[in-house]
Amino acid sequence: MKPITLIANWKMNLSLAESVRLAEDIERRLPNLPEWLRIMLAPSFTALPSVHPQLRQCVLAAQDMFWERKGAYTGEISSEMLGGVGCTAVILGHSERRQYLQETHEMIRLKVRAAIAAHITPVVCVGETAEERAEGKHEFVVMDQVASVCTGLHLGGINTLFFAYEPVWAIGTGKAVEPRVVEHMHQVILHTVREHIASVGDRIVVLYGGSVDATNVKSFISEEHVSGCLIGGASQRAESFLDIVDAVSL
Ligand code: PEP
Repeated sequence: MKPITLIANWKMNLSLAESVRLAEDIERRLPNLPEWLRIMLAPSFTALPSVHPQLRQCVLAAQDMFWERKGAYTGEISSEMLGGVGCTAVILGHSERRQYLQETHEMIRLKVRAAIAAHITPVVCVGETAEERAEGKHEFVVMDQVASVCTGLHLGGINTLFFAYEPVWAIGTGKAVEPRVVEHMHQVILHTVREHIASVGDRIVVLYGGSVDATNVKSFISEEHVSGCLIGGASQRAESFLDIVDAVSL
């Protein structure tokens, strides 16, 4: 069985009490995970320190991080702060941040480097909009996003660099992409990473994100180069998330 990673992105949806309850519920009801299956939970910043003690099999991830380690950056959260509350992974460059907070390639590039320097595993989100796909620019857009992160990148001490292919038009819309389209875009991403980081070997993992649920997850991970999923909506209730874990395990 190839290694599979599932990442639960709770976005800005749950209160502190709800986050703790959900983490506790998931952990209590999870079967013993096989070695090939890894699960990350990404609550909001305020819930990280309280969710961490609930985790036994799952890994704690943050939904963002700033690139400087310390200083006059009001409102920002550093890699050191994340490490201090037990985070070992961080989602970076989510399309909602690119879209609503004007995160640029350069900001994401800096964040990825800062995460690696702090031994926090980056999960870099890339993906085209509906317009870009309609105009036939999707491959170029995604290659550009990947290349801007990978140019001159050294993986240092991290074991894995994650990319999540998340077509913007498939996030939270119920419009999951056809698995063969996902497979093709994953090959494009892998090829682009290998072009820029010759030594990457098998330290690169590509996940799919966009309206994944228990009914379609297996169709994605059955594709050769799809190594798991980043899940938003369906990860925010224990039942729907555990159904996905079950579907993956069958
Ligand atoms: C996401 O949050 O990145 C995501 C893929 O959300 P959803 O599963 O709800 O489409």
